Amino acid sequence: MNILVINAGSSSLKYQLLDPDTGTLLAKGLCERIGIDGKFTYKASGKETLDAVDTAMPTHSEAIQAVLDALVDPKNGVIGSMAEIGAVGHRVVHGGEAFNKSVLITDEVLKAIEDCIPLAPLHNPANLTGIRACQKVMPGVPMVAVFDTAFHQTMPPKAYMYALPYAYYEADKVRRYGFHGTSHKYVAGRAAAMLGKPIEELKLISCHLGNGSSVTAIDGGKSVDTSMGFTPLAGVPMGTRSGDLDAGILQYLMNKYNMTIDEMLNVLNKKSGVEGLSCVSSDFRDLESAAGKGDSKAALAQEKFAYEVRKYVGAYAAAMGGVDAVIFTAGVGENDKVVRAMICSGLEYMGLKLDDEANGVRGKEAVISAADSKVKALLIPTNEELMIAMDTAAIAK
Ligand code: ADP
Repeated sequence: MNILVINAGSSSLKYQLLDPDTGTLLAKGLCERIGIDGKFTYKASGKETLDAVDTAMPTHSEAIQAVLDALVDPKNGVIGSMAEIGAVGHRVVHGGEAFNKSVLITDEVLKAIEDCIPLAPLHNPANLTGIRACQKVMPGVPMVAVFDTAFHQTMPPKAYMYALPYAYYEADKVRRYGFHGTSHKYVAGRAAAMLGKPIEELKLISCHLGNGSSVTAIDGGKSVDTSMGFTPLAGVPMGTRSGDLDAGILQYLMNKYNMTIDEMLNVLNKKSGVEGLSCVSSDFRDLESAAGKGDSKAALAQEKFAYEVRKYVGAYAAAMGGVDAVIFTAGVGENDKVVRAMICSGLEYMGLKLDDEANGVRGKEAVISAADSKVKALLIPTNEELMIAMDTAAIAK
């Protein structure tokens, strides 16, 4: 069964057509500038690539229609007709406490996703727009919602509660939710396969290190703690996000510079992290090259990032009472051997020893720890779309 995976933003829509049984990617692409003018990109192996072609997209419906037209196009298409799409999987950012797994989309589910809008005011409305557009253009095709937060719903209260007055949880749903759940779940499954052990018997720490980064403790296949929190601003420093911070700093800086809370949050979300610290870039490739030329702030940003990730690894080993494997995934985790080595250095005491040569690989599944390392280090490219397609197929069947 082919699954169309949709990740809808407010003015963009990413798509992939996959066969989850074989893991084959049939086609993928992007609709951009929806509601403005409309640009359409389409890639399928052995077919002509369409790159940012002008295509009128007043709404997400025309964007989805453009995707379907391309997929069934006699020349560049990859399927004969729409009937070859068994179901659609939608990435939804926030499922709150309402969803602990992926679900078939019904009217009640749409309502519950709407109810989560206050928790993700930028993302959930766009995700809903994508779902509704698909329902309009593809009537009768089963649709499944896959939530970034769902995997983390297994966290115990001691991990998800903040030490705030209890009423803020009860009345206002203020708690740790965590994000990147689809990625953490996917790489945990792959780690179990690579280690040849049932996931129920494994303690894993998964480091999703990209532009946004989060670390998750996964005990027996279940998320038991994660570094992002009520919002994706928490945890380790990221490309431009600060990560964890003393809340007292907000009051001090806002008073001193007469900033509104929106201006302050803009600094924390968009001007901080390794970019803010390095004064160079949010991209780890730029940090590496600047650090190599002697830029001390770029070197500090790399070091700070690795140090904070290492602290989470130590904390989560303590939280779970041990760890069998540490997983590296996403842009930085999959590609940056220098940062991986910096994170792992000093973890030899707990039985994690990197193999320098094995750590030289990029972008493919590999064991990168030494043969005698008690704790394994694994490089696992993430594949959120495949995870969404797998969940969608399982539910649609
Ligand atoms: P997103 O969170 O946007 O999905 P990705 O997981 O794609 O991000 O990660 C993007 C980041 O990965 C880039 O900003 C860059 O810092 C890092 N990255 C990508 N390729 C490399 C590389 N070859 N070496 C080091 N870092 C890389």
